Amino acid sequence: KGIVSPAASESERAAEAALRPRQLSEFVGQETVRSQLSLVLEAAVARGKTPDHVLLSGPPGLGKTTLSMIIAAEVNGSLRLTSGPAIQNPGDLAAVLSSLQENDVLFIDEIHRLARTAEEMLYLAMEDFRVDVMVGKGPGATSIPLPLPPFTVVGATTRAGLLPAPLRDRFGFTGHLEYYEEEELALIVTRNAVKLQANLEADAAHEIASRSRGTPRIANRLLRRVQDWAQVRGNGVLDLAAARAALDVFEVDRRGLDRLDRAVLEAVCVRFRGGPVGLTTLAVSVGEEPETVETVAEPYLVREGFLVRTPRGRAATRLAFDHLGLPGPAPEETLF
Ligand code: ADP
Repeated sequence: KGIVSPAASESERAAEAALRPRQLSEFVGQETVRSQLSLVLEAAVARGKTPDHVLLSGPPGLGKTTLSMIIAAEVNGSLRLTSGPAIQNPGDLAAVLSSLQENDVLFIDEIHRLARTAEEMLYLAMEDFRVDVMVGKGPGATSIPLPLPPFTVVGATTRAGLLPAPLRDRFGFTGHLEYYEEEELALIVTRNAVKLQANLEADAAHEIASRSRGTPRIANRLLRRVQDWAQVRGNGVLDLAAARAALDVFEVDRRGLDRLDRAVLEAVCVRFRGGPVGLTTLAVSVGEEPETVETVAEPYLVREGFLVRTPRGRAATRLAFDHLGLPGPAPEETLF
């Protein structure tokens, strides 16, 4: 996994657990979602009811799992974690549902990847707090209704539009998470440095924040690498020099681009003279699978305006040439 990948590995999840905010008030940024959610939760608690089901949408690493943990804590329930891909059939879902206790929060990550055959069961569970358990097979099969205690589903998805409408409609509240500002990321790493007992200076916090692609998960990861560097190569202090040196070692540049991102940009700019170039050709030239280029490197390059997608392929922008310190394409050659 790349150092700036927005996804977390299993082992990283453990490192992250120590850094998770536990209360809504500690959750940095996302003002809109935070104030809406706090209203929903407060009202539910005041009424002595479980809150409406919550759908959280947004890119990986922005705090969806963290928010689900905070919701569980606020309603005094336990959190149960599962994911769409982990639920292959109705039986898997029935097993999870039937183990829920009152006030529990069931977090379903990547809910858009839930098996279609399990959806009906989830609808019924969310709406009527009931599962129908099938007993027996063939013509003699009967379904036995099993009541469930009141609980809250928190669904997470990269895009709410990926969900079938009937499922989307069962969520009383949908929150959309946005990429974070540099200031917010600097605040997150500053707070986390305290938890990690690291002596992080303010300008180093900003340096980390500016290279973290708007994503707290990446900011936390870079913070840990800077701490490593300071401890082993430096004098223990996470100052600006240490941050720069560490991020150079891990090849994360000023704009948060890593080795693969730069290889892609360089190929488009130099070998293909700014493009457009087809995805497969581009992938071959950087020695990667097309899927890796498309899902790992491209989204951020496009989002930051280094690359554009055209009907004829990927093309580099002026910004890409500038970032790599290259002269732009010759004037007679069009940019895209
Ligand atoms: P997601 O579920 O959206 O992939 P996570 O909730 O696992 O993201 O968050 C990834 C990491 O970033 C966690 O370590 C979490 O503590 C941290 N994080 C995310 N959002 C915030 C925030 N708003 N304030 C502080 N830390 C955050």
